[in-house]
Amino acid sequence: MNVLESITKSAEFLSKKGVTESRLNAELLLSDILKMSRLSLYLNFERELTTVETDTYRDYIVRRGKFEPLQYIVGNVEFYGLTFNVDKNVLIPRQETETLIETVYNVYKGERELNILDIGTGSGNVIISLIKNLPTSRGTSIDINENALHVAEHNAELNDVKERIKFLHKDILTDLVNFEDKFDIVVSNPPYIPIEEYPTLQKELVEYEPKDALTDFSDGFTFYRVILRRSKEFLKNNGRLFFETGDKMSDELKNLFVVNGYKNIKAKKDLLNIERVIFGEYIESSSPKSI
Ligand code: GLN
Repeated sequence: MNVLESITKSAEFLSKKGVTESRLNAELLLSDILKMSRLSLYLNFERELTTVETDTYRDYIVRRGKFEPLQYIVGNVEFYGLTFNVDKNVLIPRQETETLIETVYNVYKGERELNILDIGTGSGNVIISLIKNLPTSRGTSIDINENALHVAEHNAELNDVKERIKFLHKDILTDLVNFEDKFDIVVSNPPYIPIEEYPTLQKELVEYEPKDALTDFSDGFTFYRVILRRSKEFLKNNGRLFFETGDKMSDELKNLFVVNGYKNIKAKKDLLNIERVIFGEYIESSSPKSI
């Protein structure tokens, strides 16, 4: 079969299985196999596929037909202009998370030697994008999942920032964490989907993405509460804590910043006009510490 016939047949198959944007999916998967842009596919409609290419394409299309996310099949994703490898151990970086990077970047651009902590690093997309864009900054990433840390470390290497980021296997909810230095910035995109909303998510997410990266198995605020409290130990005076959050969660989250004594609390909207990022400043209290 040639390129056009293969795409047409695959798109029909995916559409029957209920995959949305079936033609686009069929094209992107073949682009990946043939190492061609989608435009080149259109210019090469008559090209015959080799047996190996056909077999690989069939395998990819069957997997996509079972709702495996496209990014896991091709093994990578673009985020903030960089390429990240992804597999089933890590959440697929989302476009809305770029708002988190942009917000931190806009507050700190021009500043040097920043020390950044990323809690729940997953594929490493957040810390790597920040380190890449803030010259002379360095970072520490923690995650509960060792397999995710391997993916993140590999991504740091791919993006040439491995020597500027430390990766540590820690559970922020239970482990004592003593860092050598304090941080200018703490950033986190924690699992914030309330457990009762989890079953309503897209099939791709529920069946393939790591559940403990998506939900806290509770009201969605578990990690926010713990990180807001613990970051006061981790941050320098005037350091800032940045969170990504979900639709309709921002008011409660801002309130938690207030309750925890953070100042200058602000929100940043994403492209869909949802308050996606909440951040606040930690100011050390001047009153003497009680003994
Ligand atoms: N930091 C990663 C991201 O923003 C992973 C987040 C997570 O696993 N909850 O995509």
